[in-house]
Amino acid sequence: MNITKDQIKITAKSEAGLFYGCQSLEQLLEDARDYKKPLPACTITDYPMLSYRAVHFDVKHHLDHMNYYYESIDRLARYKVNAIVFEFEDKLRYQLQPLVGAPQSISIDEMAALTKYARDRNIEITPLVQGLGHATFILKHEQYANLRELPWNHWAFCPLNEGTYQVLFDLYRDAIKATPGSKYLHIGGDEIGNIGLCPRCKPTADKEGMMSLNLYWLKRVCEFAKENNRIPIFWDDMPLQHAGLYTSTWSDDVTAAEATEAWKKGVTTLDSLQTDFPKNCVYMRWNYSMAKQPGNILALNWYKTHDLKAMIATATNAEGGMLFQEDKRDTGAASSGIISIQSFIQLAAEKNISGMLCTAWDDKSPHMENYWRGFIAAAEYSWNPKGRTLDEYDAAWLQREFGLSMPGYKNFTHQLRKGSELWYEALYKKGSFFDDDNMLQSTKQVEHWLKPLEGRENIPFDYTTKLIELPDLKSPGLWSEKYKDKIDKSIIEINNYADVSEKLKDLCNSAARNKYYWQLLLAIYNFQTSTPRLLLALKQCDSPDKSKQKAGIEEVQKALNAFHQSWAQLQTVYGQTRFISNPSNFIPDRYFHFASQREDLSWMIQAQELYEGMIKKWLQSQS
Ligand SMILES: [Zn+2]
Repeated sequence: MNITKDQIKITAKSEAGLFYGCQSLEQLLEDARDYKKPLPACTITDYPMLSYRAVHFDVKHHLDHMNYYYESIDRLARYKVNAIVFEFEDKLRYQLQPLVGAPQSISIDEMAALTKYARDRNIEITPLVQGLGHATFILKHEQYANLRELPWNHWAFCPLNEGTYQVLFDLYRDAIKATPGSKYLHIGGDEIGNIGLCPRCKPTADKEGMMSLNLYWLKRVCEFAKENNRIPIFWDDMPLQHAGLYTSTWSDDVTAAEATEAWKKGVTTLDSLQTDFPKNCVYMRWNYSMAKQPGNILALNWYKTHDLKAMIATATNAEGGMLFQEDKRDTGAASSGIISIQSFIQLAAEKNISGMLCTAWDDKSPHMENYWRGFIAAAEYSWNPKGRTLDEYDAAWLQREFGLSMPGYKNFTHQLRKGSELWYEALYKKGSFFDDDNMLQSTKQVEHWLKPLEGRENIPFDYTTKLIELPDLKSPGLWSEKYKDKIDKSIIEINNYADVSEKLKDLCNSAARNKYYWQLLLAIYNFQTSTPRLLLALKQCDSPDKSKQKAGIEEVQKALNAFHQSWAQLQTVYGQTRFISNPSNFIPDRYFHFASQREDLSWMIQAQELYEGMIKKWLQSQS
């Protein structure tokens, strides 16, 4: 692009290049308007380092409104993202297996129209349909019970049952039809537990190992992709696990020496599998923390020396938190957030890997807007891996997305995040909302990393025992002592509340664009602060002074009201872009993801609901 006194000239090798040149010009015009300055005379020579720059739309536990997807495509185009891996799950209205599509799913025609809209903006929609494992959205239906590896377990298909391939290929056919002209088909294939157990598979698993079943499935689906002119993309963890190398690719506990040792042993296994690795497949190496773990580098090298095509996958929400997202920049190899996105893309560029996906997992179904900062960082670094520093990125993000400048952004976002951390643990005796042990309903033990265990759902259990008890007013002070840490943190939150909420309102008012983001943040902030407010009200009751107790009880009522108000507000704000509940004829799909525990957003407040029930009983016992 060349801007002189009287003309602007954009030249490119391709139509996409012209499109991107126009995006850059738009950005310059935007800045010129924001700062009331003329366009600078300049020459920009620019091109992307990675050719496949994808973000992930995972609709496992929620669906956004169609116009949100259209708007998202416009927004991604601005940042020169050129692919979306759309993980359909049950949100596509499959025609060949109509049972699989959820009641409010997107029709094939609607998705094809979205695909065309995206293509007009140089974005390819790559469909992702999970196959062998992660199949609860299919196998939850009794009509598919005969395809389950274990009759009671919805997680995995039987890989040796031909019916598995009839169903999967039908789903793929529809996914391909919904994304006309796209180049890839992501087939998933990760985290397969609980196969090799049925009478059909067990002899093979005993003789040739479980991996042979994985590879048989992979071979079949890759052949299907080839016949249908798609390049399959496959998550690569299972072969690495089988070779004992997986932990070395992500764990920050594995030292360089340990990783090298593991690879010395495991590489023979990997080499022996290699002849069965389909050559038309793209192996997607995923790592969501700092990417430079020795095992992760060795894995990328291995693909290269064996002439297999690899892409990388990083994450905008490494921990999958549902409120404010993690952005840990100072914990070495375990750092996550923008820094991990930058580090893996830089590594990919060093290794001449041309494709990257920024994942956005829906396990705890945070609002999609929470993901955009990571999406845009992935766009930024896959275009120019050695470009801006992280601090410069923050400033550029605030300007481009909102027309805002905010020198203390890092501290501010850290403060919001601290509040989320308190919220996650506030009502639990041990650990936090994130711990599998703190699930507040029974789910069958379908976690792929655990031994299958039938019948756990039938054991009656009092889930309130996982939550902190209420103050014993006959022994005032004990409760406050026991939960001092939670109370101290709550005091900090409540002391900051006026300032932080003012600041958020101010940002919302002064943002030139995307005000919705700050409305959402304000709603999340009010919501998460209602829990420390409740703890402090309970603390007030925990006093030997009767009049203080009485005042405290009034405060508890007020805190509960504030909670209900903030919860209603949060749902209203969420409801502007997403469907906040499943229709009544939706068939539940319960498994270990927290967001699968209810049919509406109320899975987020299961602890609060239980605790409110405890408070009501407690109040009655006081009167
Ligand atoms: Zn089987």
